[in-house]
Amino acid sequence: MRAIVFDNPGKMSLVDIPEPVAGPDEILLQVDAAGLCGSDIHAFLGAFPAPFPYVPGHEVAGTAIAGGGNTDPRMIGKRFVVHPLRQCGHCDSCRVGRINFCSDLSIYGGNLQGGFAERVAVHQSCLYEVPENLSSEEAAFAEPLACVLHGLGQIGVEAGDRVLIVGAGSIGLLLLQAAISSGASRVSIADLVPAKLETARMLGGHANDLSVDTNKHAFDLVIDATGSPSIVGGLTRFARDGGRILFFGVCPPDATIPLAPFDIFRRELTIAGCFSLVREIGPALRLIGSGAVRVAPLISARQPLEGLEKALSFHDHGGTTSDIKTMMIPSLHP
Ligand SMILES: [Zn+2]
Ligand SMILES: [Zn+2]
Repeated sequence: MRAIVFDNPGKMSLVDIPEPVAGPDEILLQVDAAGLCGSDIHAFLGAFPAPFPYVPGHEVAGTAIAGGGNTDPRMIGKRFVVHPLRQCGHCDSCRVGRINFCSDLSIYGGNLQGGFAERVAVHQSCLYEVPENLSSEEAAFAEPLACVLHGLGQIGVEAGDRVLIVGAGSIGLLLLQAAISSGASRVSIADLVPAKLETARMLGGHANDLSVDTNKHAFDLVIDATGSPSIVGGLTRFARDGGRILFFGVCPPDATIPLAPFDIFRRELTIAGCFSLVREIGPALRLIGSGAVRVAPLISARQPLEGLEKALSFHDHGGTTSDIKTMMIPSLHP
């Protein structure tokens, strides 16, 4: 079957790989849609550790076409989204439910074959059924939305919060909607690209230019969705005294930022990180299914596997692209 392989940093190919076979506890999915994620791009460019060579794609929705001996035959024909983290289940982190820190973690779209392929075999414990009213493309947003819910869970959104989000890419636009549905009174959002701010406005956000004059100490919760160290380093000035800051965007592993410890002390600022997801896929699917989080407006392109190289080339320009979410559709042919 056809699959994308990231061979080395900066090099990818579309190749024929052996057909995956469902093990006893696995379901073979025909991939309907797989989202291209910022972390795929970082990994491809060598800016984030990745297990080269590998088949990427961790935001996957597909239809069950075969199953191993321990799986329920009634699953065949149903659609599922993939929880990309396959936990070992018995390390210290797994035992306390922090599967994102599993010491023997396997990841679909990492060291396990991902969804930028025609088919993928997935352990049944990593599958969540897609509600009837959602398209597979919409359902493929369950994984990034789950990461967003995990992030907001780390820092907390309180009723009435004034929230600032920097970055109106797909994650920023999911954070925006999740913050509103969690009770934020007003969500401001900043980006360099006017078209993205237009989408943000349509989804309930208020465009913000990050001017220090008008934004200093103005927000209860400030969230980075850029992964740009120069932006992250300036976020404390936007948080009110006693405010909270969430580092969501993925900065380069060796980046450092200036932080004034006195500022954190005197103004009682709380800073939180968040990595990946834990068990938020179900709530994410429900938020998409209820319409509280709208994902269809975030799809800016659909590509066959042949189109991935082109899609990646849009992202080499420092966040100035108007592309929000590219959806890989392996059944499309160029
Ligand atoms: Zn992702
Ligand atoms: Zn574990």
